[in-house]
Amino acid sequence: MISLRRARRLLATSLVGLALLGCAPPATTPIGDAGGIPVVATTTVFGDLVKNVGGDLVSVTSLVPAKADVHTFEPSPTDIRAVAGARLLVMNGLGLDDWLKDTIVNAAANDTPLLQLGPDLPGVEPLPGEVTGTENPHLWMSVPYASLYVDRIAAALDQVDPGHTDDYARQAAAYKARLAELDRHVRDEIDTIPQGSRRLVTFHDAFPYFAREYGIQIVGVAVEAPGQDPSAGEIAALIQAIKASGVKAIFSESQFPTQLVDQIARETGATVVASLYDDSLGDPPVTSYEAVIQWDVDQLVQALR
Ligand SMILES: [Zn+2]
Repeated sequence: MISLRRARRLLATSLVGLALLGCAPPATTPIGDAGGIPVVATTTVFGDLVKNVGGDLVSVTSLVPAKADVHTFEPSPTDIRAVAGARLLVMNGLGLDDWLKDTIVNAAANDTPLLQLGPDLPGVEPLPGEVTGTENPHLWMSVPYASLYVDRIAAALDQVDPGHTDDYARQAAAYKARLAELDRHVRDEIDTIPQGSRRLVTFHDAFPYFAREYGIQIVGVAVEAPGQDPSAGEIAALIQAIKASGVKAIFSESQFPTQLVDQIARETGATVVASLYDDSLGDPPVTSYEAVIQWDVDQLVQALR
């Protein structure tokens, strides 16, 4: 877990890296011919955002495979090679994927610009993370915040590849228009759930920004951070909270084991919906960020309406 101050310092360092790169002469080989400039993102979700802004001008790799857990990921030698070959590295920061920084050191690619999507988003009030003094990293689960990620990606691609400013601006604008439409759709869908049923229990704490954005109450979270088992006391408190609030469904995520959630469901009578997506893309049709949000909203509406 990194402190906010350290996150800010790293962000500042990454922006310096981008600025330096921006001064370099343009590449002599047209970028995009050999599959585009190599961009490495930590997760499939951020990779998808980059692909939507970069289109054919970028070739995007995600280090964490779809449906694997970013919080507990350990990069392999192949990942270190991918990082070494990247022209731009994209991560969330705020404790989600800080292992990338060690990977960069190992890959000796210290001069490659590192874009952190999450820290200090303009106009965004951060929510607390699992450790006192940290921020919850799952900002992209609010569609308007994902749109702010897109702005940062467009700016970073423009710095790395200044010959295609207009392309990146046009593609980012088109993608942001789609995200705005998706955001309106989510609000319409959530409106169909009775006010008193807009309550949620999730496996890990990935939904607070989604919940704040769309007027849903998070009654409880099964584990504070993936890889950390809750104590018997914490499980008992969660069961109590579920019973007291009358929450109808508990949502788990495809990348996590469901035994704990199943146990809580048995003791509370709530239904388990075991297929929300947040940190990762999944199997078809959940193969894009837009599909992740659409899928989750469909699951919520089905279970809570
Ligand atoms: Zn997460």
